[in-house]
Amino acid sequence: MTAAIYLVKGREKSLRRKHPWVFSRGISKVEGEPRLGETVDVYTHDNQWLAKAAYSPTSQIRARVWSFEKQEINVDFFVKRLEDALLVRQEIIERDGLTGFRLIAAESDGLPGITIDKYQDYLVCQLLSAGAEYHKTNIVKALTIVFPECHVYERSDAAVRKKEGLEERMGVLHGDEPPQSVIIEENGVKISVDIVGGHKTGFYLDQRDSRQKSIKYVKDKDVLNCFCYTGGFGLYALKGGAKRVINADVSQPALDTAKYNAEINQFDISKKRAVFLNADVFKLLREYRDQGTLFDVVIMDPPKFVSSKNNLTSGANGYKDINMLAMQILKPGGTLLTYSCSGLMGTDLFQKIIADAALDAGRSVKFVERFEQAADHLTDSAYPEGFYLKGFACKVL
Ligand code: SAH
Repeated sequence: MTAAIYLVKGREKSLRRKHPWVFSRGISKVEGEPRLGETVDVYTHDNQWLAKAAYSPTSQIRARVWSFEKQEINVDFFVKRLEDALLVRQEIIERDGLTGFRLIAAESDGLPGITIDKYQDYLVCQLLSAGAEYHKTNIVKALTIVFPECHVYERSDAAVRKKEGLEERMGVLHGDEPPQSVIIEENGVKISVDIVGGHKTGFYLDQRDSRQKSIKYVKDKDVLNCFCYTGGFGLYALKGGAKRVINADVSQPALDTAKYNAEINQFDISKKRAVFLNADVFKLLREYRDQGTLFDVVIMDPPKFVSSKNNLTSGANGYKDINMLAMQILKPGGTLLTYSCSGLMGTDLFQKIIADAALDAGRSVKFVERFEQAADHLTDSAYPEGFYLKGFACKVL
């Protein structure tokens, strides 16, 4: 018999609105002895059936809903979710000619804890919840049914797995080991993705639309691309006719790939038109400021500084610091393209941080454009937390 959980009175409200999380403090009773990741039935305090969910005994989010309909969670269920994910992305994939895209954006695609990116014929999975781990075989089977030509690789080497009581894992789940370089194309720019050795699943697909929008700010400009990873914005700047692009990151493998990416696109990187600098951005910005080195455009796309509510303040200070420094090294009339991928920091707070940075920098700052995560990183109407990436184009006087 399927195990069951019963909610504290009133705690059914968010589930009735199709939000997929059940917190540990919202549960009054557990019936049966569900194992890690096992499927349980969720009931209200007065025995009304609500959902099928995956049980996570060690996590604050004690259960994640698979379905609000009475159905088995099996291969067919995952096939349907994959087909739905493709259906809602079809236009975007065709319109933008994508050979690399986010296929499954976890909760936003009705698959809590599961991220799947597709790079050519390689499907790269991050299985981050107990339920995802429990159903791994079903998920892989479903992937091979919907994408018979594809290889499946796991990149579940993320620290958040600990909260779910899971070990970090990576390796082939189906088909072949990925080669060191899988080349995808977005907006006419070729990008080499290292699925096994790269960050996350290999590439930051979420900035695709913002990278494309950045092109209009760079023609004949002197550009500083901070936290460049494998080139990203810097490649688009070269495409857009920047006079010079300095790409800075602390990861040498990422910088090597960035240079390789510039080469496979046949961008002219002679005469120091493109520089790939192994540097800590926090220090580099101070050095430029102290030397009085100025740029026309500064791109600021740092890693996530806010990983939990507990470090919201320190994360906010980090964003303020780098944005203040960026403003200080911009010529009057220069452009700051600045982003935050911290989901726990809303757009309003990020805008306030930029305003504070402007005060500290002693510069006048005008917002001229807003950005968000690429269209394939869609959000479900019942799950606003799916929106995490925001950015601004600012003119700095
Ligand atoms: N803009 C990139 C993605 C950036 S991801 C794109 O469009 O693809 C964040 C990057 O910041 C990672 O490559 C990481 O190596 C780098 N990083 C983290 N801390 C850093 C620091 N203190 N200085 C420089 N780079 C850093």
